Amino acid sequence: MQRDPNCVFCKIVAGEIRAKKAYEDDEMLAFHDIAPWAPVHVLVIPKVHIASFYDVADSYTATLGRMFALAPRLMRELGVTNGFRTLVNTGADGRQEVAHLHVHVMGGPRPWAKG
Ligand code: AMP
Repeated sequence: MQRDPNCVFCKIVAGEIRAKKAYEDDEMLAFHDIAPWAPVHVLVIPKVHIASFYDVADSYTATLGRMFALAPRLMRELGVTNGFRTLVNTGADGRQEVAHLHVHVMGGPRPWAKG
């Protein structure tokens, strides 16, 4: 599988950095954000290293669909029943800090730290 040895999320996929996992299958992983903005804040990532939303090729659209489809299921499982927010930061102006595609999924009572 394509990976970047310097990427923190690739290291989480490989088990080299610990994370609190919420879901895992062959192609994606969801884990709790280390610095949550909301009471429930999960990141959904593809296991393969895709640097950003800019780099999503046609061959990844099914994976992307599954990542988004996981969001409501995860929120329900984590007790979020009153709505949630999904966010994909992309590139410098998009304030993307980790260069491995990820979908933020955030829920729980307001106010939140950001957003
Ligand atoms: P972004 O600005 O969209 O790139 O967001 C990256 C997110 O990854 C931030 O919310 C960080 O708190 C989160 N993050 C960075 N390192 C880790 C880690 N080791 N485990 C869990 N979340 C992380």
